[in-house]
Amino acid sequence: MTVVVIGAGVAGLACALALADHEQDVELHEAAPQAGGRCRSWRDARQGVILDNGSHVLVGGNRHALAYLRRIGSRGGLAPAPVTLIRADAADGRRRSLPPYRLLPDLARSLGQLRHPGRASVADRLVGLEHYRDVWSPLCLAALNTPPAQASARLFGAVLARSLWQGPWAGRLLLPQRGLSEIFVQPALETLSDLGVQIRLGHPLRQVIFRQNRVDALRFDDYDRHLSRHDRVVLALPWHRAATFLPHLPALPGRAIINGHFLCRDGAGADHGPIGVENGLAQWLFRRCNVVSATISAADSLLDWPAELLARLLWRDIARITGQSRPPAAWRIFKERQATLRHDAATNALRPASRQGRNLYLAGDWTATGLPCTLESAILSGKTAAKQLIEDLF
Ligand SMILES: Cc1cc2nc3c(=O)[nH]c(=O)nc-3n(C[C@H](O)[C@H](O)[C@H](O)COP(=O)(O)OP(=O)(O)OC[C@H]3O[C@@H](n4cnc5c(N)ncnc54)[C@H](O)[C@@H]3O)c2cc1C
Repeated sequence: MTVVVIGAGVAGLACALALADHEQDVELHEAAPQAGGRCRSWRDARQGVILDNGSHVLVGGNRHALAYLRRIGSRGGLAPAPVTLIRADAADGRRRSLPPYRLLPDLARSLGQLRHPGRASVADRLVGLEHYRDVWSPLCLAALNTPPAQASARLFGAVLARSLWQGPWAGRLLLPQRGLSEIFVQPALETLSDLGVQIRLGHPLRQVIFRQNRVDALRFDDYDRHLSRHDRVVLALPWHRAATFLPHLPALPGRAIINGHFLCRDGAGADHGPIGVENGLAQWLFRRCNVVSATISAADSLLDWPAELLARLLWRDIARITGQSRPPAAWRIFKERQATLRHDAATNALRPASRQGRNLYLAGDWTATGLPCTLESAILSGKTAAKQLIEDLF
């Protein structure tokens, strides 16, 4: 029996790894020349540094993601951020720090407010908290990529249950110290190769051919991969791609994220924690080496703005906040149109389960993991698909 995994994003990698660890034969096919999907990095010729498609943050409570990193020998690629939250006003550059103990009364209240979330939004439940505007609203936008007035209170509760509600270690932000591919992708590919997994990059699936309710063959450009009675398929694709192969899947709405990376002539600042931005275009600034990266969540309305305009506006805020006196040596704007799902209650209710048919499984951050589209959700989905597939064999 062979399991054919389609898609080498983090969900596909985690799924292939869990299967190979259970001594299953695995083939992994990825459309792009590079694995990693929405979590990838590369050496940028213009800036001469490693850039990520978007700044990624984990928390200490991301136990599936951290176990995955330990398994591939890459846990050291993340380092904790300072515990004190820094907020800065883009209008005048003034900074304010918020030590975590000041959030304790709000945290206690949020437990009660989110206990029975129903279909309420985050704003419905949390607007009365003392730090709603300066902490909970930007945290919701960062974690769910959806404004609090639309965002599902249930999903935000799931995020808090695996982070701040568990205690300081679980809520601690963990920041990648190197490029995302170096931490999450390359070591996984090497581990999979060592386990005998066949990996084909630049090898897109074109069609799924069904016969009598089961996948009969997978069509690639160069051949049809016929499935034996024992073979299994895991589609670890983003929702909008999976729906082109499986028309019964619901059409789920996505949300964009825009990232601007700026190579600073004067360095990116000594303290390397994230900075929350008030009154600016971006919501968060991240710093690594001499690069300041600005993240704009739920950025759909800005997708058509020219990159030059976005760069100019973002740099104006960055210069004020980090005190840059000279223009950036280089910059890049990345627009991820389908960065995550839109995490409202209605969309959340439509997310499909992993098991899809007699020999077909889904993985991906957007499946019904109970978590928003994050690395934790992607890795959990990959492990879940592998676990169900193995259970179904016996
Ligand atoms: C800008 C940005 C910022 C983010 N920030 C964070 C963060 O701070 N913290 C966090 O935890 N998460 C964050 N995320 C979310 C995280 O990156 C995703 O949840 C995760 O990478 C999704 O992994 P996946 O494997 O489910 O999907 P994908 O990464 O989308 O993987 C699917 C793979 O399938 C491949 N594929 C598509 N079509 C085919 C085909 N026909 N044949 C074969 N292969 C195909 C794709 O090329 C891709 O490699 C962010 C995402 C973005 C875009």
